[in-house]
Order: sequence, then structure tokens, then C-alpha cells
Amino acid sequence: MNYVFEPPRQTSVPVTGEVAEFPVRRIWCVGRNYADHTREMGGDPSKDPPIFFSKPADAVTTEPSLLFPLHTENLSYEVELVVAISGTGLNVSPEQASELIYGYAVGLDMTRRDLQAAAKKAGQPWDLSKGFDQSCPISAIVPKSKSGHPDAGRITLEVNGVIKQDGKLEDMIWSVPRIISFLSTYVRLCPGDLIMTGTPSGVGPVRPGDTLRADCEGVGQLEVTYTARP
Ligand code: MN
Repeated sequence: MNYVFEPPRQTSVPVTGEVAEFPVRRIWCVGRNYADHTREMGGDPSKDPPIFFSKPADAVTTEPSLLFPLHTENLSYEVELVVAISGTGLNVSPEQASELIYGYAVGLDMTRRDLQAAAKKAGQPWDLSKGFDQSCPISAIVPKSKSGHPDAGRITLEVNGVIKQDGKLEDMIWSVPRIISFLSTYVRLCPGDLIMTGTPSGVGPVRPGDTLRADCEGVGQLEVTYTARP
């Protein structure tokens, strides 16, 4: 096939212990998957089930230094367990879900909170608040053969060395197998898909110069520093 210009470079993520990288196809995100975070966002976890949205694949970044985005006075961090999919699955049961999983990473669902609040208020889509360039910093992916399936463990986020989010994977409202099963009734999950599984409470603002460190027990770490735009 000839193209009118060179096709874009495939976004990919390093894999622990491998030379080959994980090619990213799509990024699915779960919102409101921890009760304490649902409450801090003004929701009611007994009435508001988890929700789904997406980011473009090239929102993924593995760069340690990130430019502070435009159009926000309230850039917010959300630390999340990320599931990397290597199988194909439509309408899979929770019992079959783990067969689709390649491995896990820890990532940040960076959010222009002010734009998201305005979109919510106006009943408009979230894309520009969630799906911007570099809005998905991610660690290396650890294959499930090394990590197992982390269904419990501590997930934390520090800003400049101070812990801001301190959650437990076992507090997810929907477990990873249930998320995969539910999502696979709406779309055919495909190799290269990433699923961000939601954030615990403690989300807050980032300022230029801040260093964020994300840790997920048994999965990995990630550190990024935001720099002001020139
Ligand atoms: Mn999130």
C-alpha cells in the first residue's frame, strides 16, 4: 500500500525482561471504580456504577519529562493499574478474561479537571479533558508470567515525595476480570488494547516543576516531572 504520507509511528511500551515492546492499539479507561474516589467526585457509589471512556493510543508516553498541557488551570493526577491485552475477545466471561491478559503496568490518567467539570456540567463529552497529548504516562509492562494477576496490593501516588493517593487494588468496585468481561460486550477487545482500571481517592492538582511518582505493588513504578511551557 502507498500512502500520501508516511504512516504514524506505532506507539509502544517497553516490556520488563524483553527487547521487544508492546504495541498499543487503544486505551480504554474505567471511571468511578473505587468507592472513595466516586464520593470525592461528588457521586454515590451505590447508585453510580463504573463508567467507560477512552484515550487515543498516542496519548501514551514513557518520557520522564512532560510539558505542562495548555488549556488547564487544574491538571490532575489519577494513579491506576493498567491491564495490557494480547488476546482477542468478544463477550468473554469473567472466568475467560485472564486468557486475554498479557501483563500489567502502572499508569497515570492525567485529567484537565477544569475542562472535565465544565463538560460534565454541560452534558458534553470528556475527550478534550482526558484524551490530550501525553495524558497517559505509563511504566514498563510486566508480563503476567512474572507478576501473576495482581488482585490485591497497595497503589500509591506521591507528589514531590508526599503521598497523595494510597489505595488498595482489592478495593476496586469491578475487578479486572469483570471489567474485561463487561467491556468485551461493547467492543471486541484486541491485542494492543490497554485498560486503565480506575483511581482511588486523593486526586489533586499538579503544577509545573512537580515530580509525580506512581507505585503499584507487584507491578512497577513510574516517575514523571512536569516542566512549564517555554
Ligand atoms: Mn481515571
